[in-house]
Amino acid sequence: MAIEVTQGDITQIPVDAIVNAANEGLKGGGGVDGAIHRAGGPDIMKECRQIGHCPTGEAVITTAGELPAKKVIHTVGPVWNDGNKNEEELLANAYRNSMKVADENGLMSISFPNISTGIYGFPKEKAAQIAIETVKGFLNNPRRDFDVKFVCFDNENLEIYQKILNEK
Ligand code: ADP
Repeated sequence: MAIEVTQGDITQIPVDAIVNAANEGLKGGGGVDGAIHRAGGPDIMKECRQIGHCPTGEAVITTAGELPAKKVIHTVGPVWNDGNKNEEELLANAYRNSMKVADENGLMSISFPNISTGIYGFPKEKAAQIAIETVKGFLNNPRRDFDVKFVCFDNENLEIYQKILNEK
């Protein structure tokens, strides 16, 4: 098992699966979602339309189109309201269900963006803790041999992830 943190554009990473921080309608949008559809071409959206919908905390899989990754796993993180709308559990579900979909499809290297910490406004430190804890839990129980990369776009997230991963 390996967990690492890196900074960059997730669309450029050649892994088995990159995770998209999608919305429930799988309609594309801004942030990492827009970047993935722009770089991957129209085949990803074609499959998203066929799937149609993904509830918050769940995950679905499509082709990666022209991206260097093999597949895109689309998960929907929660919109942060006041912290009392089950946001933390829903974010953990998004990470766990993405790992589950990767596992079911035999995809052993997977890269995550910092789900919900952009437009959806989830506090970054709390989100990073949930992301790391949830992925570690999945990899340890039972023990599984995945390579997981947390791909940070902004410096703030990069520093938060480096701090947490070096501490533990
Ligand atoms: P959400 O709606 O889940 O908050 P966003 O796409 O707005 O999704 O943001 C999620 C995270 O993805 C943010 O930390 C943002 O900085 C980051 N991000 C944006 N573009 C990219 C990219 N090309 N590669 C990796 N991360 C990205």
